[in-house]
Amino acid sequence: LAAASCGDEIDKGGWNRQQAGMRMRDWPSPNHEPRRSGPTDILLLHYTGMRNGQAALERLSDPAARVSAHYLIEEDGTVFRLVGEDRRAFHAGESFWAGETDINSRSIGIELVNPGHEFGYRAFPAPQLDALIELGLGILNRHPIPAWRVLGHCDVAPARKEDPGELFDWARLASAGIGLWPKACAPSAVPERPELARRLAQFGYGIAEDPSPAALSVVLTALQRHFRPASLTGIADPDTVGRLDWLLGQMQPR
Ligand SMILES: [Zn+2]
Repeated sequence: LAAASCGDEIDKGGWNRQQAGMRMRDWPSPNHEPRRSGPTDILLLHYTGMRNGQAALERLSDPAARVSAHYLIEEDGTVFRLVGEDRRAFHAGESFWAGETDINSRSIGIELVNPGHEFGYRAFPAPQLDALIELGLGILNRHPIPAWRVLGHCDVAPARKEDPGELFDWARLASAGIGLWPKACAPSAVPERPELARRLAQFGYGIAEDPSPAALSVVLTALQRHFRPASLTGIADPDTVGRLDWLLGQMQPR
């Protein structure tokens, strides 16, 4: 796989070991194809939402399922490499971010083993997060992914997806240098619905210019799941809008 550019050594057992101790194993999936557009400038995080990691690995490498991701990280921190980073894996589905609908072509996808909201959603253990941080820092070194394009599946498909969800520690990830976390940002006045939609769209969310209250609520819930997980109301309160404004202030011209 092309992703062998990680700089890690492969030992006889097929196990790779990077300096800080990340255990990486190849588990090739046939479910990939050439990228159709670029650059690769989104890091997209998921949970597997299946009963265990083995079931997820089997599904993500089943040719009939036509789903995959570049990596899967077990709860014990073992990293499985399924698809080379230069290839288009099949993890985003119908999705949108900042004008792009082919999120698979633009992203690296990482699946975190977790039963998810369907099978018993639970915290992501420390070894899993440690491995994600090590893997993620390497990915950010290899691809032009700005901090504000480190996203969850819920961000790019708010009406369909909740993962990785409100138990995922985005704050810890950001403190390690991966993605954004709004801390100590001031609350903002809540604007009228079209202005709020404009700001959400400016950050990247797929939303109409004058959305219905229900459509706005779906996107606000996605924003909260990522950037204010302690309180998922779907309501535009000053704290939520303040976080959005802070995020917009972090974006830089490309
Ligand atoms: Zn997902």
